[in-house]
Amino acid sequence: MLQISQLKLPVDHTDADLREAAALVLGLKPAALRSLAVKQRAIDARRGHVMFSLAVLVEVENEAAVLAGRVKPGRVEVAPDETYRELDACPEHGGARRSSADLSGVPVRSPASASEACAASAAGARPVIVGTGPCGLFCGLLLARAGLRPILLERGKAAGDRARDVTGFWNRGQAFNPESNVQFGEGGAGTFSDGKLYTQIRDREHRIPWLLRELVRAGAPEDILIKARPHIGTDRLIKVVRTIREEIISLGGEVRFESRVTDVIIDAGVMRAVVLADGGKIESGCFVFAIGHSARDTFEVLHARGVPIEAKPFSIGVRIEHPQRLIDRMLYGQWAGDARLGSAPYKFVAHCGTGRSAYSFCMCPGGLVVASSSEEGGVVTNGMSSYARAEANANSGFMVEIRTEDFGSSHPLAGIELQRKFERAAFQLGGGGYRAPAQLLGDFLAGRTTREAGKVQPSYRPGVEWVDLRECLPPDVTATLKQAVAKIDRTLPGFALPDAVLTGVETRSSSPIRIPRDPATLECASIRQFYPSGEGAGYAGGIISAAADGMRVAEAVIRNASRG
Ligand SMILES: Cc1cc2nc3c(=O)[nH]c(=O)nc-3n(C[C@H](O)[C@H](O)[C@H](O)COP(=O)(O)OP(=O)(O)OC[C@H]3O[C@@H](n4cnc5c(N)ncnc54)[C@H](O)[C@@H]3O)c2cc1C
Repeated sequence: MLQISQLKLPVDHTDADLREAAALVLGLKPAALRSLAVKQRAIDARRGHVMFSLAVLVEVENEAAVLAGRVKPGRVEVAPDETYRELDACPEHGGARRSSADLSGVPVRSPASASEACAASAAGARPVIVGTGPCGLFCGLLLARAGLRPILLERGKAAGDRARDVTGFWNRGQAFNPESNVQFGEGGAGTFSDGKLYTQIRDREHRIPWLLRELVRAGAPEDILIKARPHIGTDRLIKVVRTIREEIISLGGEVRFESRVTDVIIDAGVMRAVVLADGGKIESGCFVFAIGHSARDTFEVLHARGVPIEAKPFSIGVRIEHPQRLIDRMLYGQWAGDARLGSAPYKFVAHCGTGRSAYSFCMCPGGLVVASSSEEGGVVTNGMSSYARAEANANSGFMVEIRTEDFGSSHPLAGIELQRKFERAAFQLGGGGYRAPAQLLGDFLAGRTTREAGKVQPSYRPGVEWVDLRECLPPDVTATLKQAVAKIDRTLPGFALPDAVLTGVETRSSSPIRIPRDPATLECASIRQFYPSGEGAGYAGGIISAAADGMRVAEAVIRNASRG
């Protein structure tokens, strides 16, 4: 199989055009291609031209001769083998119940290590995973398939009940629930999101293509397998996380909701047990903590029990909303609104004279700005979309980096205190009822309080209060955002729209801490049997990187258990 990359085709190309273009690159006639399949499709909207840029897989009669022929270097190669090979499945459990094909590309290469790990787990305690975000779920799925019958503990509720709490809080005046919200509950922080599935992590082990196939098996749209910037959308994500949970349970695992870990028992550098809010205690020889970046109470407990924690930079900013039609026209010109392209995304970084940069974060085309608090008395923004990305506004985090030297303290949890300070300021400024403070971009630039909505309707629920956002942002952040607007407008003309809406504050773009790990075993550097994982521990920054870290940790747990 050959792979041709960067095949540029017009938006309205036909299958015949594609075949012809691929054949031309190979110096063949279209009929000489035995098969042709699109591997990846990107939209190239640079320099005012909108094209598809495709990677395709083709079968031809004599690959070697074609490769030796007149092709442009770099564009044609033997299709790389992207099989995920790191995992062994115990044949008596996951491996036996499913054929290797059923395991969607997880080859049962050498079942020995998983069998031994499985025996070890049956003799001792089952692995305990705290958190059912993408990291905990995929770690749990792999451990369940390896026959280790993991126990997953989740402080929040199952996806359906959680969705009722979240939408009740946003839209129906229901009280905010600090245990069931956009950060906490089945599926973790990514359940109410745009479900963007791209990441810049290195993936030599090919976990990402495997993850995408698993998501499709669990109910995600098939186009995530070929889009260069795939996304699922909140509406589909809820079904996906439920399906993965059901598989874990069908393999002998357990998923316990409303089970918050409130303490840990560490003895002579070894984690022995976790304590739950109801007083229950679970002992095990393996604890994976995949608790996300918002589990502040749990970070405090871990710190109090001697877990090493390092402060980490994060970002603070606001959500910015523009009409999606404006963004479509800005990026797609005459093709704006074409269903083959969908709603246009954007991305920017602007280096400013303040010595800081402003950048876009988690851009949601055709999406909503959502209330994402996890603590009472704080307002936090973020964004989400449904699969259709059909809402009127585009939104993105408009962020500025906060360095550890800005924390004003060397305490490892000082970043959390800083986040909390601005979230509380936003809560007060919004009137103290979870309405968010908001301002029109024109007023923000002019330094005046907004009095009423402009032409862009803010999508944040339960609603916004028009204010001067300087009152809930660090001065350096305000100055950097102001300087950045004109710079961004030069590459994204229209970005400086005076009626664009800024809603604050966005503080949870990444974890403010990191828990060091032993690179060989992936256990905490100084506490055995404890695996800090995913975004909360500082090893991921998004759905796919968190899920991939969960897989990496599961592989390590299996390896470590088989070594005894
Ligand atoms: C609104 C929103 C939109 C987003 N959009 C995107 C996007 O489009 N694409 C993208 O890649 N990323 C997005 N993200 C970020 C992404 O969701 C996270 O990077 C990812 O979920 C991190 O995964 P995780 O498993 O490490 O942690 P989380 O997903 O945060 O999961 C942690 C889980 O642990 C549970 N937990 C915490 N403490 C305890 C405890 N003590 N006991 C028991 N359970 C506990 C929590 O309830 C939670 O379910 C978004 C985030 C938000 C909030």
